[in-house]
Amino acid sequence: MTLNISLLGSTGSIGTNVLDVVRQYPGKFRIVGLAAGNNVERLRDQVEAFNPQLVSVATEKGAAKLLEMLGPKWRDKIVHGRQGAIAVATLPDATTVVSAIVGAAGLLPTLSAIEAGKHIGLANKETLVMAGDLVMKAARKNKVNILPIDSEHNAIFQALAAGQRQDVFKIILTASGGPFREKSMEELWDVSPDQALAHPNWEMGRKISIDSATLMNKGLEVIEASWLFDIKVEDIEVVIHPQSIVHSMVEFIDGSVISQMGVPDMRIPIAYALSYPDRLRINLPRLNLIKNQDLSFHAPDFKKFPALKLAYQACKRGGTMPAALNAANEIAVEAFLNGKIRFPEIALVVAETLERHDPKEIKDVDTVLQADLSARMQAESVVEALGMRSRQKRGLDLAGPAMPVA
Ligand code: MG
Repeated sequence: MTLNISLLGSTGSIGTNVLDVVRQYPGKFRIVGLAAGNNVERLRDQVEAFNPQLVSVATEKGAAKLLEMLGPKWRDKIVHGRQGAIAVATLPDATTVVSAIVGAAGLLPTLSAIEAGKHIGLANKETLVMAGDLVMKAARKNKVNILPIDSEHNAIFQALAAGQRQDVFKIILTASGGPFREKSMEELWDVSPDQALAHPNWEMGRKISIDSATLMNKGLEVIEASWLFDIKVEDIEVVIHPQSIVHSMVEFIDGSVISQMGVPDMRIPIAYALSYPDRLRINLPRLNLIKNQDLSFHAPDFKKFPALKLAYQACKRGGTMPAALNAANEIAVEAFLNGKIRFPEIALVVAETLERHDPKEIKDVDTVLQADLSARMQAESVVEALGMRSRQKRGLDLAGPAMPVA
């Protein structure tokens, strides 16, 4: 039987890996919908290769450009904007939706897909970070599976199969530690966006690469895991594992620890999420344990990487706090990539935004979107203030600022 897939975020890092798996199994998977952002050229190539029923891009301008490149027979098959992404997510012929849009923009299309009864391959962690309770309830109500594509959650999902749910003692999420694991707190003030984008083990998009460098990515994953596996945040431990071979672990009450290992390649979790419970013989380099014999594990440094701690705190506080954390982080990462703030100030922007955020109980998706918007505005003003402070400081103190304590 062929699985009909709508892919949200098709031109990104996850999206292109999904298409690579699909390409290896033409009889097993068919792409019926593609949604992307602004990379219209890459999307054109994907449309020509996979011939979907419906295509969506971010803007009206992008849609016009795509139509011009593809020709008039695509006129009724190109849509745009949030409604366009939702149309692709709810295409009647799609049975599974892969949600790989980056950031908060992934929430509404993913939720719409769940409400339309589509099974979800989830790579967009923000969906659960922002609205975990709503999303999991909607999934139960509509009887859809949410299969994690994030490598850690996919690993946990696989490890959980080794025992019974009530016998889980804790979840151990591994983190590579990012490119700045060895740097001192002082050195972090001088790292550039290019240095932060160079991840040692994984090839990823810009946003998630910065999140990996601050460990906010791991923080978001802790929140994602708590919703996905219905486990208290206190029972989720983060362990730094620089080799990225052990993708995460589950410890059961009898002391047995089950891990999932493999080369760091997103096609493994993608293939598992798409073919579950079957496994696909995908074509990629295999794990060589003799070559990778040094597997090491360390405690995370919460002082050097306060973003991780902020995520734990936001998760524990609950309500709209994690949505505010995510929104503030998106603004801060953007500001760092644009040279407006320095690397340690990313966590500072998040901390100051959360301090001012008045968390609400989440009753509906509007509550979440409101919190997202107000946290964004708050974070913008913190970014502005930091920019002014550091311009003044640069004039006065060429030795550089001391680390502020968040
Ligand atoms: Mg991950």
